[in-house]
Amino acid sequence: MVRTVPITVTCECGGSGPLAARSPAWRCPHCGTAYQTDSLDPSHVSHQLAIVKRMAWAGVIAVLAIVGALAFMAPAVLIATPALLAAYYYSILPWYRRRLRGIYAALPEWRLLPQ
Ligand SMILES: [Zn+2]
Repeated sequence: MVRTVPITVTCECGGSGPLAARSPAWRCPHCGTAYQTDSLDPSHVSHQLAIVKRMAWAGVIAVLAIVGALAFMAPAVLIATPALLAAYYYSILPWYRRRLRGIYAALPEWRLLPQ
């Protein structure tokens, strides 16, 4: 399941507000102008965000699995756990944040015409 990303609509008058999911229209709370929003398709962005989040969680699961295996097989090697956590924080998290920044920097912007 891919969650939808939140969309904010900004009116020509400067008023703005969130767009309810799958809403075909949005009305400015400030001036009342209506905009047709059924042509917006954020599914590509939602899909990219889901992939990046899934990969970051896979990193967490991998670290936990390795630490669990070490605890079970060779508890003395558990001293390497801080190194594994450091590897996670210094390699996977920065990658995750870079990817998120890239996705957010490339967010699409749609121009809507008032109805
Ligand atoms: Zn307005």
